[in-house]
Amino acid sequence: MKDCLFCKIVKNEIPSEKVFEDDDVLAFKDISPQAPIHLLIIPKKHIDSAKDIGDETLLAGKLVSTAVTLADRYHLDMGYRILTNVGEHGGQTVKHLHFHLLGGRTLNTTMG
Ligand code: AMP
Ligand code: ZN
Repeated sequence: MKDCLFCKIVKNEIPSEKVFEDDDVLAFKDISPQAPIHLLIIPKKHIDSAKDIGDETLLAGKLVSTAVTLADRYHLDMGYRILTNVGEHGGQTVKHLHFHLLGGRTLNTTMG
């Protein structure tokens, strides 16, 4: 989608530190890490947010399983968090579906 930051990252129009890529999924380092390991896992295809996944359940599952595989690769044996923000109240700033993978220290336990 035109003017979408993450679509531009998919097309290499904006640089990113990629850590995984296949035909459907891209994962890269968050530019403003909130934990020692902070990765973003996105579909290459533009989807606005989790509420727009619709029939793309296979793709959504692939995003989560990629996050789990990366957690393993980054040795997050003590645990980690996978999350996705939706919309304004959810704190979503980039309107292209993405899962955050956070780990490497004990994470804050506040929910909201
Ligand atoms: P959210 O607030 O859930 O929409 O998350 C968007 C995330 O994208 C934030 O954690 C940002 O730090 C991250 N971000 C924004 N621009 C870039 C970029 N160019 N490369 C990597 N991560 C980015
Ligand atoms: Zn996009």
